[in-house]
Amino acid sequence: MSEKRDYYEVLGVDKSADEKEIKRAYKKLARKYHPDLNPDNPKEAEEKFKEINEAYDVLKDPKKRAQYDQFGAGAGGFGGFSDFGGFGGGGEGGFNDIFDMFFGGAGARHARQPGPERGNDLRYDLSITFEEAAFGKKVELEVPRTVECPTCHGSGAAAGTSPETCPHCHGTGQQQVVRNTAFGRMMSTQTCQHCHGTGKIVKTPCKDCHGTGRKRETSKVTVNIPKGVDQGSRVRLSGAGEAGRNGGGYGDLYVYIFVKPHKLYTRQGNDVIVEVPITFVQAALGGSVQVPTLDGPVDLKIPAGIQSGKVLRIKGRGIPFLRGSGRGDELVHIKVLTPQNLSGRQKELLREFGEISGDKVNPEQKSFLDDLKRFFKK
Ligand code: ZN
Repeated sequence: MSEKRDYYEVLGVDKSADEKEIKRAYKKLARKYHPDLNPDNPKEAEEKFKEINEAYDVLKDPKKRAQYDQFGAGAGGFGGFSDFGGFGGGGEGGFNDIFDMFFGGAGARHARQPGPERGNDLRYDLSITFEEAAFGKKVELEVPRTVECPTCHGSGAAAGTSPETCPHCHGTGQQQVVRNTAFGRMMSTQTCQHCHGTGKIVKTPCKDCHGTGRKRETSKVTVNIPKGVDQGSRVRLSGAGEAGRNGGGYGDLYVYIFVKPHKLYTRQGNDVIVEVPITFVQAALGGSVQVPTLDGPVDLKIPAGIQSGKVLRIKGRGIPFLRGSGRGDELVHIKVLTPQNLSGRQKELLREFGEISGDKVNPEQKSFLDDLKRFFKK
């Protein structure tokens, strides 16, 4: 186990740094040393990246950090913090517990196994229109991602050569290390430093990927957005994520759907809601108005005497169901407009209308007025 640097030093923060400062420092360093962003010296970057992550893993967690502060950085080989839980509260555990922690599973579990490692999943946020969400769309995306190097097909070895079995670990990716300690000779397992756990050594690195077997590229990906998707729907493209390591396969690409608001429509499940203003003359006499639908304008019959707020249903003009066939409805919310800026003649006619109407009101209004009268009599 190699001697670890002080975690505060690794992140370049003060011992009194708060969580925010630690997070900020970590993000900055992680960006700087991400192996994919350092194609010229990927191995150095990877080591550094691991160190940063290990330090952050401890310092971001108040419990782990307190234990680390108490225990000190010089205690040697701070391997597995995963096992730290049992060792809290002033170290009553005694030597055996510390021992298990250092030389037992913890360190070995942290070693990277030489086996295949699947690539990362990626997320792409896609904005589409209301209509596109209703009827679906074929979209071409440009996705920046890490892919298998096409020159060496991911092996990292130059053309005509192939990776050789690591002579130091005989392909296992792990090494047994014997240490003489105050407690005696101890055996521990660690990641092979020569092949970094892959079990293979590339003698002549591929020129295109500098031996990493991976490359950054912007891939064109075609996505079929199915009809009926909604805000928050997720479309998964299997294998369109990032390349894995050691033949671990690609991750997936998740396309998250965001639907832009529409000027006329809102959505309620698979129904489309639209508000249609009509004049009070149309409301009183009835007639026909043109209303917009996803399939173009439709003539809608307005029954005479319709009230504001009444909802009329146009069957089958809503949003197609994501699964199965059929569509929702369009729900037309009627809004009766009260006339404004009347001319003298219009006022005259309305007054005359009022006089003729007298007490004649519709049944709904009548029962309301009756209730009102009863209310005031009490
Ligand atoms: Zn290559």
